[in-house]
Amino acid sequence: MTEVTGRILDGKATAAAVREDVGAAAAQLIEAHGVTPGLAVILVGVDPASEVYVRNKDRDASQAGFHAQTIKLPAGTAQADLIAEVERLNADASVHGILVQLPLPGGLDQAAIVPRIAPSKDVDGLTPASVAALVTGQPGHRPCTPSGCVELMRRAGLELSGRHVVIVGRSQLVGKPMVQLALEQNATATICHSRTQDLAGHCRRADVLVAAVGVPKLVKGDWIKPGAVVLDVGINRGEDGKLVGDVDFEAARQNAGWITPVPGGIGPMTRAMLLVNTLASAARSAGTDLKALGLSG
Ligand code: NDP
Repeated sequence: MTEVTGRILDGKATAAAVREDVGAAAAQLIEAHGVTPGLAVILVGVDPASEVYVRNKDRDASQAGFHAQTIKLPAGTAQADLIAEVERLNADASVHGILVQLPLPGGLDQAAIVPRIAPSKDVDGLTPASVAALVTGQPGHRPCTPSGCVELMRRAGLELSGRHVVIVGRSQLVGKPMVQLALEQNATATICHSRTQDLAGHCRRADVLVAAVGVPKLVKGDWIKPGAVVLDVGINRGEDGKLVGDVDFEAARQNAGWITPVPGGIGPMTRAMLLVNTLASAARSAGTDLKALGLSG
């Protein structure tokens, strides 16, 4: 008997396709409208993981034909100076996307800084204005990780409408916006967290399971409904130093219809959606939109 295992939802390959489409659309924006998408990333302090993330974002943006800049500020930067930097970028017409790399070093209040980013340039989708737009169904930037989950499914031809999406994790960054995006796609959504009772039971009812917890291999193989789509957002460092997700991949794969690996799943999609958001912002500033530039969504 041949063994049937979940097919891999290849975020790395899909993200490469998204980046290629973004590059083509950016070239059109430059040619037809004379606008080069601009992304500015602010990195405060020295955090090795953040440095890698920022370098990758800068490289992705440059390769897509954007003007990318990384602004490095020392760990001891005063809150007022960081806000002044954000406001300088808000006023700079060549910058269409601003991202403050999180987490910020101690002494800097994320809740006081992020809202200062102009909503039109909030390509991380984290300002209160962007959150309000998401919840009320208005246009605005959607957070990159959950929109990467939706885009990965869309490009794989996997339907969300009418399906039961179960999300484990209720962070502002992933879990909560994922609920809204699932609803936007006409899915039925359940959100679970550390106080949820019978987590396994909830997961077993999921047509689409999104794990965004930060606990290695929390989701077991027998929690997966046969044929379900499993999107593993978690990025954890295993005992052997390798990256591991929130899902026990090998066991879950025995039941899943489709499953994302870690690495190579949602991580690359998150980065690709940052480019999409920045391009959308640049297009809007030129009086056009992604559709007119040939990018469907
Ligand atoms: P947070 O720490 O902000 O949130 C974790 C959530 O998981 C909380 O809601 C928490 O519940 C819940 N939780 C913790 N333990 C359990 C448990 N035992 N059972 C059920 N729920 C639990 O994490 P993030 O959302 O920021 O990140 C989650 C993971 O995703 C991390 O590994 C992170 O590195 C990764 N990540 C990956 C990204 C990517 O690009 N692929 C982007 C962003 C994050 P409660 O609210 O009750 O405390």
